[in-house]
Amino acid sequence: MGKRIIVIDVGGTNLRIASIQDGRLEAVRSFPSIASLPPPEGFKFLEERIREFAGEELQAVVLGFPGLISKNGRLHHSPNLKGYEGIELREGLLGLGVPIFVENDANLYALGEGLKGAARGKKNFCCLTLGTGVGSGVIIEGKLLKGSEGVAAEIGHMTIKFDGAPCSCGSRGCLEAYCSGTAILRMAREEGLDVRTAKEVADLAMQGEAAALRVFERMGEYLGAGLANIVNIFNPEVIVIGGRVAEAFSLFIGRALEVMSKMAFSFAREGVRVLKASLGDEAALWGGLALVEAQHEDQ
Ligand SMILES: [Zn+2]
Repeated sequence: MGKRIIVIDVGGTNLRIASIQDGRLEAVRSFPSIASLPPPEGFKFLEERIREFAGEELQAVVLGFPGLISKNGRLHHSPNLKGYEGIELREGLLGLGVPIFVENDANLYALGEGLKGAARGKKNFCCLTLGTGVGSGVIIEGKLLKGSEGVAAEIGHMTIKFDGAPCSCGSRGCLEAYCSGTAILRMAREEGLDVRTAKEVADLAMQGEAAALRVFERMGEYLGAGLANIVNIFNPEVIVIGGRVAEAFSLFIGRALEVMSKMAFSFAREGVRVLKASLGDEAALWGGLALVEAQHEDQ
């Protein structure tokens, strides 16, 4: 081998570029996101950074984007990167002359946790990323679940409360509307707390503030319902929970497991472990390596 792959994790605010060679993560750099640039400029920026990183040794590029990405690499619905909706992401980097892989960022996160993180060695697992929204990836029999058009496994948008709170996707009552950082902030304000971030709510809860604890209790209940659905539908060995909100794992996991245990089939539930993600921000980067390796195995 000796060649390197470049993995780019594009977020709404920042993007990170990693260089992986011979299974080693050699460099990770952060830049402001391309969200504010028109697509031609955004891709030009990415191409320049990739060339700086990789020189002549480039084997493949993996581009992780938040949002729905169809099998042909077209970005659909992406609230944080609206300007890129409708675009075939792969085409923007074809000038590099190497294989370009594009994948939903939470799918990459799940693959990364499967390669080196909390779901290492598992063949059937699901991963939720609780951040501004709720991302998810599902691996069944060792393969990423993609569905007919490539946009399957949007667990964050399963309905857990009919006619519930509005969600970023346009629907109501989604898991994301109760378990994301955005939802935690909303529920805290409903409790009368004067807070600006979900982190502040978590800090208050850690100090034992009753209203903040109620917020995480409520969030845990809805998450538990979501976990029960995951258990019943996918029968996973492990469910990994990552993202910024998972830093408050101890505040919600007890209640979530209680509710999951009540709602899920006991036979499926007894075999499942719900674990905190272990790779943090590196998960999606390692997921890029897993994606390229899986492609080679398929060929
Ligand atoms: Zn939704």
